[in-house]
Amino acid sequence: MNRTPLPPIGYALLCTALFALEAASDAQQPDPWAEARARMVKYEVVAAGVKDARVIDAIRTIPRHEFVPRAMQSYSCFDMGLPIGKGQTISSPFIVAYMTEQLEPQPTDKVLEIGTGSGYQAAVLSGLVAEVYSIEIVEFLGRRAAKTLDRLGYENVKTKIGDGYQGWPEHAPFDKIIVTCSPEDVPEPLVQQLKEGGRLVVPLGQRYQQTLYLFRKVDGKLQPDPLRPTFFVPMMGQAEEERDVLPDADQPVLLNGNFERAEQGLPFGWYYVRQGQVGPSGRAEGGNCLTLRNSTPGRAATALQAVGVDGREIEELEISAWVRALDAKSGPYQGQRPALTVVLFNSDREAIDIQGIGPWLGTFPWTQQRQRIKVPAAARLGSVDISLWGGTGEISVTEVELKVLQTRRQVGSRSAR
Ligand code: SAH
Repeated sequence: MNRTPLPPIGYALLCTALFALEAASDAQQPDPWAEARARMVKYEVVAAGVKDARVIDAIRTIPRHEFVPRAMQSYSCFDMGLPIGKGQTISSPFIVAYMTEQLEPQPTDKVLEIGTGSGYQAAVLSGLVAEVYSIEIVEFLGRRAAKTLDRLGYENVKTKIGDGYQGWPEHAPFDKIIVTCSPEDVPEPLVQQLKEGGRLVVPLGQRYQQTLYLFRKVDGKLQPDPLRPTFFVPMMGQAEEERDVLPDADQPVLLNGNFERAEQGLPFGWYYVRQGQVGPSGRAEGGNCLTLRNSTPGRAATALQAVGVDGREIEELEISAWVRALDAKSGPYQGQRPALTVVLFNSDREAIDIQGIGPWLGTFPWTQQRQRIKVPAAARLGSVDISLWGGTGEISVTEVELKVLQTRRQVGSRSAR
C-alpha cells in the first residue's frame, strides 16, 4: 500500500510551470499571456467540445488575466476557476465558453447576466452580442468589475449593483439570460423578462451539486434541457431565502464514489470530467470504475466533486479508494503527478491545503489506498479531484470514500476529561 504523502500539488505546482511562462512574457509582447491562452483554448476548450468559432475566438483573445487579482494572474491561462475576493470565483474558461455557446449569441441580442463577478463573462459576451446588462449583488465586486470593463473599453456592457433575482425590468425583455451563480429554482422575474423564443442558461440545484440547464421560452413557459453537472457559488439574496434544501456542513457527502450511476459514460455527481469514462472495473467484485486516459503531456484528464467541509466542526477526514494504473507518468511540470487529492478552501474560496493519495506512477493492479487528512480550522469547502494532473497513461478509480474520523467536539471533550 502506498501511503506516501503528496507534495503540495495544484496551485503551488502550477507555479513552477508559470514561472517559465512569465519569463517568456518579457519578450515585449503586447499580451504576454496570448500564447498560453491559445494553448489552453486548444486543449481545454476546443478539445472539450466547444465548436462556435466566435465563442472560441472570444476566449482566445480576451485577456482573462486582467479580470483576476494580481496574485492569481499567473493561473489565469489554466482552465480553472479562481478566487476573485469576497468568497466568489471567476468560472473556468471552458465553462464560460460552454455557457456562452449554449446561449447561441447573435450580433443583435440584448443579454442579461446575473453575477457580474470579475466582469469576464460580460466581456466575453460583449463582442458577440449588441448589449450586455450585468447585475452583481456584492458592491465591491460590482464596482471593481465596472472599472475593469470600462478600462478595457467594453462599451456595450452596462452593470449595476443589486439582487439579480429581480432582473433588470427597465431594459427587459432580453433575448438571452445567463445566470452565473446557482439558485435552487429559476427566479420568476427572469422568466418574465425573457423574450418569447429566448434562451436562459442557469445552474440549478443544491450547494455542492447542481445541473446546468438550458431553458427555451415557448408560449410563455420555460422548456428545460439539462446539460451537465456543475458547481457554482450559490445565488444570494431572495433566491437563498427561498431555498428549500439547506446544506449540512458537518457531514461532507461524497456522491457516487463507486461510479454505479452514469449516463453515456459520464458519472453522476462528478463534474468537470475531462478524458474520463465510466465502465466495468473488471475487479472480481464487479462494479464500475472511472478511467482517466491522456496521451498529451500537460492536458487535463480529471473529474472532481465539491463537498462541504467545515473546519470548525471537522478535525480529521479519511479519503480512500481502489486504484489501478497503466503506464502512468508525471506531467511536464514539476510535481504534476497522477493522484486523488482533497483540496481544502477557506471562506474566500482560496485553496489553503492539498492532501491526498498517490502519486500513482507506472503500472499496478487494483489496490486499496487510504490517507488521513488533517482539516485546518479555516476550511469551509473541499474538492475531491481524481486527476492525472497533466500526466499521461491511464488510471482507474473506484470505491472513493470520504469519512469523518474526528470532529473538533470529540477532541474538545476528550481533552476536557
Ligand atoms: N460571471 C462571473 C463569475 C461569477 S461568480 C465572472 O465572469 O467572473 C458568481 C457571482 O454571482 C459572484 O460575484 C456573486 O457575488 C454573484 N451573485 C450571487 N448572488 C447574486 C445575486 N442574487 N444577484 C447578483 N449577483 C449575485
